[in-house]
Amino acid sequence: MGLIKKYFMPNAYVQSIHQIDLAHLSQSGVKGIITDLDNTLVGWDEAEPTPEVREWFQQLQSLGITVTIVSNNNEQRVGSFSESLDVDYIFKAKKPMGKAFKKAIQRMGLQPSETVVIGDQMMTDVFGGNNRGLYTIMVVPVKQTDGWITKLNRMIERRLLNHFRRKGYIKWEES
Ligand SMILES: [Mg+2]
Repeated sequence: MGLIKKYFMPNAYVQSIHQIDLAHLSQSGVKGIITDLDNTLVGWDEAEPTPEVREWFQQLQSLGITVTIVSNNNEQRVGSFSESLDVDYIFKAKKPMGKAFKKAIQRMGLQPSETVVIGDQMMTDVFGGNNRGLYTIMVVPVKQTDGWITKLNRMIERRLLNHFRRKGYIKWEES
């Protein structure tokens, strides 16, 4: 049970990226963010960053926090989205396995302790980040997806969240 917590429990869980206190992250020594794209920054079917997302990236830039978008999606999707924000990206990342997080940290020239992972999926983003010893922030998905793998992942996520709740591990505020 300790292992389940170690690998699948996010350090924080918020409604959306806009609820994250970026100034506080910066004050805590965070210099880089590895973020998922689909259903984390925008809905999986939204091609362009919204004005709010653009503002979020501007805020990070003004705080001196570097961002890398790390997604399991393809080059076309991840590339055009990231380039429109002028941020670095890794596509077909094979989260939770693969070396994408390590690569992203190296490219940003940071230490793991200075890097935070943000994503909407426990089985890919949280597991991948925890596995590398990174601080993980899970967000509620922007949109529901109907892919069967995602549905299965969501089912497992719900069970794990209920488990963490029963164990009293959850420290974040639940609404
Ligand atoms: Mg996602």
